[in-house]
Amino acid sequence: MEKIDLRDLDLGEMEELLRALGAPSYRARQLFAWVHGRGKSDWEEMTDLPRALREELAARSYVSKLEPCRHAVAADGRTQKYLVSLPDGQAVETVRMDYRRRTNRSRRTACLSSQVGCSLGCRFCATGEVGFRRNLRPGELVGQVYFWNERAGAAGTGRITNVVYMGMGEPLLNYEAVRKSIVLLSHPLGQNIGHRRITVSTCGVVPGIERLAAEGPPVRLAVSLHAADDALRSRLVPINRRYPLDILLGACRAYTARTGRRVTFAYLLLAGLNDQPQEAHRLARRLAGIPCGGCGSSAAYNPCAPFTPAGTSCFPLTVIVAFAVLFPGAQSATSTGSAFTV
Ligand code: SF4
Repeated sequence: MEKIDLRDLDLGEMEELLRALGAPSYRARQLFAWVHGRGKSDWEEMTDLPRALREELAARSYVSKLEPCRHAVAADGRTQKYLVSLPDGQAVETVRMDYRRRTNRSRRTACLSSQVGCSLGCRFCATGEVGFRRNLRPGELVGQVYFWNERAGAAGTGRITNVVYMGMGEPLLNYEAVRKSIVLLSHPLGQNIGHRRITVSTCGVVPGIERLAAEGPPVRLAVSLHAADDALRSRLVPINRRYPLDILLGACRAYTARTGRRVTFAYLLLAGLNDQPQEAHRLARRLAGIPCGGCGSSAAYNPCAPFTPAGTSCFPLTVIVAFAVLFPGAQSATSTGSAFTV
């Protein structure tokens, strides 16, 4: 019998499992709190479960754990990432970003990878060059948050408060697992992270946007645009050939109408390609009427062939002004500098 990973199970599935073992349903809530609330994987720590029950569970199931392989910290110390290995030996990156907000409340965001590799082949993306290997399971998604929280205790840095699905892979091509992980992370007996603090980022998988709008939960949506016309966007983000801008932005409008959430549009400035003032004007026309925020980035981009980022130092002032005027309130996604911060 193949053992199941308890991190993949929601509360209803744990109740079913424990019912089959003859245990009362409150045991499922205790188990759920250990696995998804405290992020524990060691049976010995689950002390309020009878030892006999723990032994029966151990015979049928396990609690997976991500193992750290490599660690890197940004110069300002606020962003760090780990390469972590998955139970089958594959590896993904997971990132933690710490910000202090104007309200003086700090925000600690985990950026989750959703796939090993990616099939979409965006031209500026190193993950796209790898190609698709496999989807992450729900337990491997939530496990990235538990991984950071485990380290937060030792480092005294605080638990994760926000989650973005913006790491390796396209989250909406792993829809079922991503949606289930959102339900797990927002459960009151789990991490209890509010839906407003969870963002799903997509390069434009329109059926996934429509499904998420219809099924919920009503999390925030971020869309990587990078261009305001179809010809250029199809070059940079090939899925645009399947879901061109009119269709994509129509789905974004419908998402905001259905969920009441603003959409964040990400725009990576690439030298000589999409960094002209007229591009800013075209973008503004495209986004008119959509309740949205935005972020622009160049310094955070790791260049890979065939494109280079628009460097902060050589970035034309006219472009900064154009983006700043047209997108008041938008933010730079970078921590070390910005192509435009408006
Ligand atoms: S969808 Fe995301 S991970 Fe996949 S190729 Fe595009 S930018 Fe890279």
